[in-house]
This record gives sequence, structure tokens and C-alpha cells, in this order.
Amino acid sequence: LIRYEGVTKTFGELEVIKGIDMSIYGGEKLAIIGPSGSGKTTLGRMLMTLEEPTSGIITIDGEKLWQMEDKRGRLVRANEKHLHRMREKIGMVFQHFNLFPHLTALRNVTLALTSVLKVPKDEARERAAEMLGKVGLATKLDEYPSRLSGGQKQRVAIARALVLRPKVIVFDEVTSALDPELVGEVLEVIKEIAEDRETAMMLITHEMEFAREVADRVVFGADGLIVEQGTPEEIFDCPRSERLQAFLGRFR
Ligand code: ATP
Repeated sequence: LIRYEGVTKTFGELEVIKGIDMSIYGGEKLAIIGPSGSGKTTLGRMLMTLEEPTSGIITIDGEKLWQMEDKRGRLVRANEKHLHRMREKIGMVFQHFNLFPHLTALRNVTLALTSVLKVPKDEARERAAEMLGKVGLATKLDEYPSRLSGGQKQRVAIARALVLRPKVIVFDEVTSALDPELVGEVLEVIKEIAEDRETAMMLITHEMEFAREVADRVVFGADGLIVEQGTPEEIFDCPRSERLQAFLGRFR
């Protein structure tokens, strides 16, 4: 479904991603783990169309994300229209929720449907309410974000991503900004929706137990490179590289 080929990203002098080749298969749950500053978020942001790779190619369903063909069939930089169309395949959940504060939970979710997918209002309300029910917020439809806990806000953000039925959802450290007692409820919701085999997930996370339970495959990155990847058992029970062993040692 998703391929990164020779992808690099440089901010000024700093080479944050140093040439990554990586795939995510349809419906696959891929966890990305690694030390702080290793480039995990940047990797996700390039798929979410929020950072343009410095070089390399990212494809979704075989179609290039950041490049397109012009009228003469030459490969050129993607324009906003192309990115807009590609974005319909990609769901995004951020560390800081990014909800609209002036809209209720329900309106935050319906807005995506009516504005992005042009779904009629009544149908959008119905689908949004159903999705909010699925993340345990059936009684909070009319609350504004300021009256919701961090965990509830994050569940609204998850419902908003899911309701668009994207091919892949990027979860970018979605529990990092939460009080510890609220982390569990959000991870639980993600675990439940992960059972749906249709939607692929890129889970950028510092929660090792969660990655082990949910992921089909785990990628360990450090210093802008993939150091090791494998099944959760391979990565967590039999880490081969010293870097991964040292990294995991910090969680024991
Ligand atoms: P963490 O787990 O702490 O969130 P990470 O692995 O997700 O870390 P990134 O957020 O991808 O790492 O950041 C990797 C490096 O890139 C960091 O050194 C960061 O300071 C730098 N960086 C990220 N975004 C930018 C930017 N827009 N401009 C300049 N430097 C950036």
C-alpha cells in the first residue's frame, strides 16, 4: 500500500532521515519505535503531506505522493490539487489533538465528512455520531473540546480520522501529551479499531507494550536510518543489534 524508497529529509544542515526504504501493506499495523530525535515524527509527517522529502519517493497504491506527471508526461513536483486528492487516503492523529475549539465533538467529526468528502449533512451527522459511539463518546456529542479530558479529545480526533475511511492512518505519538492515567483509554480504543483489517496503521509510539500487542511488524529507527525490523516477538524478545538492545533496556 505504502512504499518509501530512498527517502531523505534535511532541515538546513541537519539530515534527519538518511535514506529509508520501507513498506506498509494493506491493512497492516506497523509500529515505529526509536530514540527521541531519531526522525520518527518526520517519517510520519512526510506521509501526512506535512513535510516534503528532500529526495526519494513515497507511493500510495502505486501512485507517487509528492510527484505527479505534467501534461507532457514529465515528473514534476506535486501541486496542491494532487496532494489534496492523495490526502483522502491518509488519516492523521496528532500528539496535540488539533481539534477545532469552536466546534462540538460531533461537528469536529462531521466537518471532515462534509468539507473533504462532500457527504450530505444528515448522512455525515449519522456517520459521525456512530463513530463517536465506537470510541466511547456517545454521550459527549455536543460537548466542546474545552469540556473534554485529553483522552476524550484524542478519541474525538481518532473518530475524525476513522470516519473518512482512509487506507492508512498515521498515529503520531498520540499519547505523549496525555496525563498518564488517560493513556490507557486511548490505547484501548486504538487496539479495538486495529482489529479492522481494512485500514493500515502507522503507529509512531513510545509505548512498547502497546506496540507489541497491536503491531504486525515493528520498525526500530535510530539516527535517521532503520536499524532493525521484524515481528514484535523478534524485535522485543530477540533484538539483534546492540542499539536496539540498549534502547529496550531503558524500558525494563
Ligand atoms: P521524538 O520521539 O522526540 O518525537 P522523533 O524521533 O519523532 O523524536 P523528529 O521529531 O522526527 O524525531 O525529529 C528529528 C530531528 O529533526 C530532531 O533533531 C528535530 O529537532 C529535527 N526537526 C524536526 N522538524 C524540524 C523542522 N521543521 N525544522 C528543523 N528541525 C526539525
